[in-house]
Amino acid sequence: MDTGLFGGTFNPLHNGHLGIIQHVKEEFRLGQIILFPSASPPHKPAGNLAPARDRLEMIRASVRDMEGFEASDIELKRKGPSFTIDTIQAFRQTSGDRFFLLMGSDAFFDINTWKNKDRIFRTIPIIVMVRQSSVSSPSFTSFIDENISKGYRKEKNKFIHDKMQDIIICNVPKIDISSTLIRDRIRKNLSVQGLVPAPVKEIIMKRNLYI
Ligand code: ATP
Repeated sequence: MDTGLFGGTFNPLHNGHLGIIQHVKEEFRLGQIILFPSASPPHKPAGNLAPARDRLEMIRASVRDMEGFEASDIELKRKGPSFTIDTIQAFRQTSGDRFFLLMGSDAFFDINTWKNKDRIFRTIPIIVMVRQSSVSSPSFTSFIDENISKGYRKEKNKFIHDKMQDIIICNVPKIDISSTLIRDRIRKNLSVQGLVPAPVKEIIMKRNLYI
């Protein structure tokens, strides 16, 4: 089965996350998408980070009735910073699925800070989710050339390489929601209805997260 892997802080999961991955799932006919919260995000300041268990539970409860979406605790089981390369290897060891790594363009352009970035590009095709419809592909071309490998060439929406995995650019609908917005609204006692799945709202309220 073709499986998308989508990691993030998910602090908390919101309808922007779900909207874009639903789009990617349909566009690439993925059998499933697995969401895995980063237990200890190496790239984000720890400020107001809800416990990893709570972030996982919010995802689990939200995708329970969504066909083809799963939550994984894979990064909660490891100690130390949650490096994506370790997670990819772990998924590959336990399943024969064909995996794709999903990431937002912000994460992609931050790739130089990722552990073993070269190994990531040698191991797994990446789907980069770009928020606006106006993809400035020249910036992708020069970024990939300068930071990943000069051997990539562009073919339609893909960058392909003889020895490395595809980098696929996918335009996703613009949904103006971020976890930062959700945390701000909670702190200001404003409603998050329609911005997060109902179980996320419930868990935030019940456990007094983000106040
Ligand atoms: P924060 O506001 O705390 O920085 P976030 O909403 O960006 O968080 P993350 O958990 O860091 O959430 O997101 C995981 C990935 O999802 C990131 O690569 C991010 O670019 C992408 N993403 C988050 N929200 C959206 C959105 N509304 N549209 C498209 N991509 C999104």
